[in-house]
Parts: sequence; structure tokens; C-alpha cells
Amino acid sequence: MKLIFEKSVAGRRGVTLPRPDVPKRAIIDGKYTRKDAAPLPEVSELDVVRHFTNLSRRNFSVDTNFYPLGSCTMKYNPKFTEAIAGFPGFTELHPLTSHLGQAAMLVQGALEVLYYIEQLLAEITGMKEMTTEPLAGAHGELTGIMLIAAYHRDKGNKKRFVIVPDSSHGTNPATAAIAGYEIISVPTGKNGCMDMESYKAKLGKEVAAVMLTCPNTLGIFNTDIKEVAELAHRYDALMYYDGANLNAMLGKCRPGDVGFDVVHLNLHKTFSTPHGGGGPGAGPVGVSGKLVDYLPVPKVVRNDNGTYALSEKKPKSIGRIAPFYGNFAVLLKAYAYIMLLGREGLITASERAVLNANYCLAKLKDVYELPFERTCMHEFVISASRQLKHGIRAIDIAKFLIDRDIHPPTVYFPLIVKEALMVEPTETETKETLDRFVEVMREAAKLAEDDPEILKNAPTNMPVSRLDEARAARELNCSHI
Ligand SMILES: *Cc1c(COP(=O)(O)O)cnc(C)c1O
Repeated sequence: MKLIFEKSVAGRRGVTLPRPDVPKRAIIDGKYTRKDAAPLPEVSELDVVRHFTNLSRRNFSVDTNFYPLGSCTMKYNPKFTEAIAGFPGFTELHPLTSHLGQAAMLVQGALEVLYYIEQLLAEITGMKEMTTEPLAGAHGELTGIMLIAAYHRDKGNKKRFVIVPDSSHGTNPATAAIAGYEIISVPTGKNGCMDMESYKAKLGKEVAAVMLTCPNTLGIFNTDIKEVAELAHRYDALMYYDGANLNAMLGKCRPGDVGFDVVHLNLHKTFSTPHGGGGPGAGPVGVSGKLVDYLPVPKVVRNDNGTYALSEKKPKSIGRIAPFYGNFAVLLKAYAYIMLLGREGLITASERAVLNANYCLAKLKDVYELPFERTCMHEFVISASRQLKHGIRAIDIAKFLIDRDIHPPTVYFPLIVKEALMVEPTETETKETLDRFVEVMREAAKLAEDDPEILKNAPTNMPVSRLDEARAARELNCSHI
């Protein structure tokens, strides 16, 4: 191994890279060339630095503020994992190296990390094998549904439908539709879970898959899971687990053990890699034995002599769904996070996430409507419907939180709850932070009764107040900020 390395470094030193031919005068048609100087602003470096520094200080982020954005899991991302992902031994690798036969010996460390992150995630989810290729949660969903479609094609099954509960994340029906299936939506029952009678009535032999999020987007664990899976399997419909938020499940319940055939994970939610404006994501997918043959290539394999390589040997594979093997630096951060916490640490993280959510819920349910009176998992949904009689909506409460330096929770989702406020405190917050959040939420409820104008005018301490969000997205104009 050492020899190969030395040879390649020596070879590299001796090489002179060819220079591209640069034409002396580029020939561009006169009608495209500018006649007057461009109206560029003349500003000093200092002014530019101040402009961008001040803009950056207006960012809301987990590092600056409490960020209970339900379903999005804005937990703290330890700097330790960033440091690991920044090791030159990783950042200076070229992804093509691993495809160059013998040169795979130069990237053994990276391949080993990929191999182990797959093993760890398979162990955590109870699945047989994983792929780390998908680049986001929705991309993982598409991969998973493509695997299911490949399975049915291979078996000659005629399938048309995917069953999705009406509380699901919007990406679930969107994914199934993009993969060519028609959607059957099942309503939520009184207990906050998919209504079983309706489910049974809609299940049939043309159903390709049942996509479930558990705990669902109401923060409720579906205790019917095993029965749902058993019924689906009778029709050879496969069970899809949306594991974007596994925060209540780590070490407690494994999708593979309760009958799921596919699971995608959002490393950027559960496994603490930055997201939103903070970085790209990763949506690894795990499968049960039924689907192993269809997994994407390349696949990291361990040879008999203990070395690692990328293998393309999967004749039934759905092929490549991303360049190389996914967002390597994100996988690396998640690997470092899992190794940092260890088995007990992951279990504690889940327990605290659930405890923190239930703590906030218990302190708020006398002032906000609780659509489903149940113990919550890592997040909960309350409604501002009681505040409506004072003319106050969920959006007003959300905007008021900004004035109190708290990022708003997710609002108006899930769609089945009127005036929904979806709160996910995460495990990384202290009791003091949670108490302050509760205090501000209670203050908002009181203001709704006593002085609703304050809520309607919020936020007042931001550079801009209420935006027409749809128009702002279409006609973005940052010049007055
Ligand atoms: C965030 C989320 C997704 C989508 O993940 P992306 O990485 O944003 O594509 C899917 N399902 C659930 C339940 C989610 O919370």
C-alpha cells in the first residue's frame, strides 16, 4: 500500500499539466457586447465587509437561537463532527480515485467509513442492507419507491397504487406520484393514527406500497404498525418507513423489526448534520432481504483480505441514483456523531428528545388546543384555534416569537390540524431554554386575549415585518434590507 502511494506522489510531481489554448481575442458578435460601462457600485472593501457581516448577524440559526421547527429537527450540530469532516485526509481525496482499480488502496479509510456507516445505520434501523447514495430525504424516498417498483416489476406484479395517510409529509405522495403511482389517501382516526377501518377498505392487490411516518407528523407513535404491515404483506404490498425523524426511536424500536421493507433516514435531521442554510443533506436508504438485489451501485464491499472496494456487481440494481456514493462529508459527520454518542448516547438522545417535547406540551396544553390528547414522541402539534376568537392565528403567534428571539415552530402543518403549530424542541436544549419558550408561548396566549394588536403587528424588531411570502419568493428583492 505504501509503495503504491509513494509511486503515485512521485508520478504526480513530474507531470506538467497541458494549458488550454486561449484565443487572443474572443470573437463575440457585436450585438452582444456592451457599449457602456456596467453600472457597478463603487464601494470600499470595508463597506462590503460590514454589509455582509451585518447581514450574517441577522441570521437565525441553531447556533444563535432556539429553533423548535417541528419535523425539521434543528438540533445542535456539534463542532467536533465538523472538525472530523475537515480532516485533509478526507477533504483532499478525489472521488474518482476509488474507481481506479489498484488506486482504491489509496482511499481505504474513506471506503471503510462508508462501509461502517452502512453497517451502523442497518443496525439502528434493523434493515438488512443500506445505500448511502441519496442526497436528501425526498431523494431517499424516490430511491425507496424505485426499489419497490423494481421488485414488483421483477415479480410480474401488477401494481398501481401507493397508500399514504393524510397526515404525511408532502414529499410522500409527491414521491409516489413521480415514481408513476396513483395515491390513495387514508384519513386520520380519532387516536391521531391512520384510520384502520378505512385502511382495510382501501387495501387491495393493486397496492404497491404503504408509506408511513412513525411517529407521524402529529408526533404520535402508531401502535397499529404491526397489523398495518401484516395486512399489507398479504397483498405483497411493501411497507415504506419515512424515517426522516428517527429522534424518538433510536435504540427503542427498529423499523425492520416491525415489518418495514424500506426505510430512509435524514442524516441532516436525526444524525446531527447541518441543514437548511447550513449544508447539504443525506438520505440513506435501508432495505429488507426482499429488496437487497435492487439496491443502487456502486456498493462498498469488504474483501476477504480485509480491504475495501466499490462493487458494481448487482445485475438487478436500479443503477446509479447519485454521483459516486452520496454526500461523503455529510456521511462522515453522521459517522462521527454516532461514534461520539455511542449506543447509550443515542438512546439517551431519543429519551431526552421525547422528554423535552412532553415537558413543553404539558406546560402549554391548558392554553392551546391539543387536537389529539396523547403522550407525544419527539414533537407535538398544538392549535391556535382557541385564539381565533380574538382574531389571532397561528402565523401571528409565530411572528411574535421572532420578536422574542425564538425561531417560530412549523405552522399550518400537518394540514389536517387547523391553525397548527408543530413544536420540536430536540434533545440538545436545556430546561432553562425550554422554560423560556413556554413562558413566551404563554405570554402570546395571554396577549391574544388582552392586546391582540401586539401579535398582529409582530415582528417589530426585524428589518422587515410581514412579507407577502408567495410574492417575496417570486420577486426576490434584497436591496432594501
Ligand atoms: C424533512 C422530511 C422529509 C424530506 O426530507 P428532505 O431532506 O427535506 O428532502 C420527508 N419526510 C419527513 C417526515 C420529513 O420531516
